[in-house]
Amino acid sequence: MQLNIKNTFIENLPADSNLENSRRQVENAVYSFANPKKTAMPQVLHISPEMAAELNISEEETQSEFFKNVVTGNEIYPKTTPFAMCYGGHQFGNWAGQLGDGRAINLFEVEHQNKNWKVQLKGAGETPYSRTADGLAVLRSSIREYLCAEAMFYLGVPTTRSLSLSLSGDNVLRDVLYNGNPAYEKGAIVARISPSFLRFGNFEIFTARKDVKNLKILVDYTIQQHFAHLGKPSKETYINFFKEVSERTLEMIIHWQRVGFVHGVMNTDNMSILGLTIDFGPYGWLEGFDFGWTPNTTDRQHKRYRYGNQPNIGLWNLYQLANALYPIIEEVAPLNKILEQYKASFEVQSLQMMQSKLGLFTSDEEDAKLTQDLEETLQLVETDMTIFFRNLSSFVDEKTGFEIVKGAFYNVEDISEDVKNKWNNWFKKYENRLKIERISSEERKVKMNAINPKYVLRNYMSQLAIDDADKGNYNLIDELFQLLKNPYAEQPERQKWFAKRPEWARNKVGCSMLSCSS
Ligand code: AMP
Ligand code: MG
Repeated sequence: MQLNIKNTFIENLPADSNLENSRRQVENAVYSFANPKKTAMPQVLHISPEMAAELNISEEETQSEFFKNVVTGNEIYPKTTPFAMCYGGHQFGNWAGQLGDGRAINLFEVEHQNKNWKVQLKGAGETPYSRTADGLAVLRSSIREYLCAEAMFYLGVPTTRSLSLSLSGDNVLRDVLYNGNPAYEKGAIVARISPSFLRFGNFEIFTARKDVKNLKILVDYTIQQHFAHLGKPSKETYINFFKEVSERTLEMIIHWQRVGFVHGVMNTDNMSILGLTIDFGPYGWLEGFDFGWTPNTTDRQHKRYRYGNQPNIGLWNLYQLANALYPIIEEVAPLNKILEQYKASFEVQSLQMMQSKLGLFTSDEEDAKLTQDLEETLQLVETDMTIFFRNLSSFVDEKTGFEIVKGAFYNVEDISEDVKNKWNNWFKKYENRLKIERISSEERKVKMNAINPKYVLRNYMSQLAIDDADKGNYNLIDELFQLLKNPYAEQPERQKWFAKRPEWARNKVGCSMLSCSS
């Protein structure tokens, strides 16, 4: 395995001079050197061949002992120096101070086909940022991260990627429900990949410490490496940098809304500076369409990170980033203007997104009302978001509308006449609205099916894969991986995954209830 190794990050940014792997506050540095922990019996469970190819790793090489050792932290690739990054963050609305890569270790950068990829292990042991935890990850959360990152990629949502999922061979103690019942689980390691793992929190930590010098070094590096089209660093460039981060963040969140993804922990330490979906923890997929839904039990009370609030939180997080960048910009007005623009763009783009989900490719001034009515109607009774929009592409007229989407209702027998009437009213408006579209219903169907996925990683699907994996059977991981590579395709042979959540999964831990314990 001959990789084209680069070191832009460690060569350009200041390292922690303390080489000890002890937990501490790290100042005047962007990262600390830290090696992964050797594990008892590493075993690779799954590989993303497409991601391996992006790194110029052949299928044969992924089968090697060396590959296994590298992606589980048991061997360090020659002439590379693994490290953990220092970052802070606002968690659930409050400044939490230094956080950092507590269980992520960056291995190296690979350049291939003019792309620079960072390779990082999640769950490979302690770093100076591990605080009170162990730096490890369990199999269940690793399966969820591994599958979801690749699923997001194939859905066309900006995201970090997965290269491999492995067992460490060690056991890890976790209290899943935080109720005083810790138990041992299988330890696992995901090798994940991104052009950058920098988060808003990497910038916030320097401003919080009044360290403008290092803030500037990090911003300049980020612009040179990832926003080079903005030009040489200057105040104006910094403003444009913030503008682009703001636009990318909004774009990512609009995609989340489109596919029904709820991140679950949108703390600023989980917000990528490149606008990529990062840190797949207690995330979930909407089953019943519900703006108030969050999978994260840690957020049960206030539901700060509920589905319908994600765009607002994106903005709130950008305010924190604006504050972090202020010391090198020293002007409030341009930052405020960008934040105002986020709100205006959200209105425009979210309407466009909903129009496209409905197959409306011309524009009509009543469309905002039509989509708003739909969102209200969708929340009258439990209605599966994915099935609803997918089936809607077969809509013909008001008379058959209800029949066509019927499969999306969780309790179709119990739907009242009143609710049925509301649906019929909406279908009537929709039928009328479609009349001004210039494309045939066949064309509309094709276009809608390219926007409304047929297959998403429903919460219970991951849980089934996890339950099997706990028993040593890893087949379902591959089945779901293959399925989710083509989320917009019909895949009739895999139709069983185009189904509502089964009743047993309604209130099951891991399906609708997830904690940050991972
Ligand atoms: P998260 O909520 O998963 O984004 O994590 C928030 C912070 O906690 C990050 O700094 C993580 O690195 C750290 N963290 C989470 N789990 C662990 C763990 N098992 N060991 C060490 N640090 C962790
Ligand atoms: Mg995180």
